[in-house]
Amino acid sequence: MEEIKRYPIVVIGAGPGGLVVANGAAKAGKKVLLIEKQHYGGDCTNFGCIPSKTLISSAEVAHATQVGQEYGIVFESEKFTATGALDRIRKIIASVRSHEDPEALNKIGVDTLTGVASFADPHTLLVTEAGGMEHKIYGKNIVIATGSYPFIPPIEGLKDSPYLTNETIFDLKEIPKSLGILGAGPIGSELAQGFQRLGSEVVLIESQRGIMPGEEEETSKVIAEMFQKEKIGLHILCETNYIAYQNGKFVICIAEKNEKEDVEVDQLLIATGRRPNIADLQLEKAKVVHSEKGIPIDAYGRTNQTHIFAIGDVVGGPLFTHLAENHGRTVLTTLLLPGPFKKKLDRVQDVPRCTYTDPEIASFGLQEKEALAKYGEKKIATYTISFADIDRAICAARTEGFVKIVTKKWSSKILGVTIVAPRAGEMLQELTLAKLHNIPLRKLRRLIHPYPVYSDAIRQLADQWLTKTILGSFRKEKKE
Ligand SMILES: Cc1cc2nc3c(=O)[nH]c(=O)nc-3n(C[C@H](O)[C@H](O)[C@H](O)COP(=O)(O)OP(=O)(O)OC[C@H]3O[C@@H](n4cnc5c(N)ncnc54)[C@H](O)[C@@H]3O)c2cc1C
Repeated sequence: MEEIKRYPIVVIGAGPGGLVVANGAAKAGKKVLLIEKQHYGGDCTNFGCIPSKTLISSAEVAHATQVGQEYGIVFESEKFTATGALDRIRKIIASVRSHEDPEALNKIGVDTLTGVASFADPHTLLVTEAGGMEHKIYGKNIVIATGSYPFIPPIEGLKDSPYLTNETIFDLKEIPKSLGILGAGPIGSELAQGFQRLGSEVVLIESQRGIMPGEEEETSKVIAEMFQKEKIGLHILCETNYIAYQNGKFVICIAEKNEKEDVEVDQLLIATGRRPNIADLQLEKAKVVHSEKGIPIDAYGRTNQTHIFAIGDVVGGPLFTHLAENHGRTVLTTLLLPGPFKKKLDRVQDVPRCTYTDPEIASFGLQEKEALAKYGEKKIATYTISFADIDRAICAARTEGFVKIVTKKWSSKILGVTIVAPRAGEMLQELTLAKLHNIPLRKLRRLIHPYPVYSDAIRQLADQWLTKTILGSFRKEKKE
């Protein structure tokens, strides 16, 4: 082992969270070491956001050939081959990674070390390279940004089968003829639609109440209808009893409403949730409090050891690149600036989320049921508009979705939002900004939207505050 190296800041994990801290510290002239065990760029670049969104872009193009008739376009043939879409994913990953690899990082002043990091004591890390070489590192401050890994449920027969996860599915050389997916959360739903549109016959299996069970119930309904229209096989509220792998096929034994069925597929993707990556870290040697749910942090991103920070997925959720980066930016201010300039983490509840199905699902804050339970019926008003009432959506034949805004009744303070629409993620930001700056819904009536944008739906909902809630209550009083 070589002599101990000392750094004021050491970051473990080169995903979006770790990269923000390492890049920011280097730009501020600090000596910083970034340790990564495998793929620079982390899950997002290599196995997550980038490959999935690249696949979805190709799928959108393929889908256009299938719905042309609805728009008055007749293709000579609906046949296509999408193998190139998988090659394109690998090219795009390589292109994004080239800005995040050791060479690019060293250029901007970030020292890098490729190996698995573990704590020897609260300030000392041991880093083991793939070839077995060990390094001892002293960190005055240490940032844990080790992300998460796919959870594999204890289903009989599963672990003995060559199932896929998000870490292996993008290595496929061809689009599978049929694909089973366990889990209809964001990862399962995005990839179900993506692969179906690229030519697979997809079967999506979910044990909870619907597709995207963490969202408002109307959302699950709209997405389920879209998936059914696209001929994705749906098995909802469905238990998986066992999985067998025989003659190159997976047989998934499911039980739906007490009826058993065997589903046979060529490939099987497990998308049943994620767990924090803490196994290698030996956190007990650093006396860092943790559990299988993650590493608890305070409002500044500090663990119980105030010189050790934790950011991103390893904290335990919500699991998003933008949240990992946001944590990273907050911790940077704590590390770089004196006391009065330190920044607290943003409220998790207001973090926007987007699932890139078609239509997209974008949301933040309280759902209607949660708001009613918290404040009571008298204090809550919910406004919903269907895109069937929005001219742009009518022109584009995209009327299936809606905007729903949950507010405090009289003040119209925004508590929660759900948008289901093409590019809903972009539309949400108007409301995220309003929430951040405490702008109530009623004030958005004055925001002029160019005609005919989809987000005119938001202005129309703001009008509803006046017509439905305020004028509505006057009308009631008059009658009484
Ligand atoms: C299929 C899929 C699609 C997704 N799509 C989106 C999306 O569209 N939008 C979005 O916001 N989020 C998306 N996510 C989630 C997003 O990828 C994660 O939230 C994000 O990558 C978390 O960043 P992170 O920095 O916390 O960790 P990660 O990106 O997981 O990076 C952690 C890094 O730490 C390294 N590491 C772990 N342990 C050690 C150790 N002991 N020593 C050294 N290195 C170590 C790992 O190798 C890894 O590179 C998606 C995830 C998946 C799986």
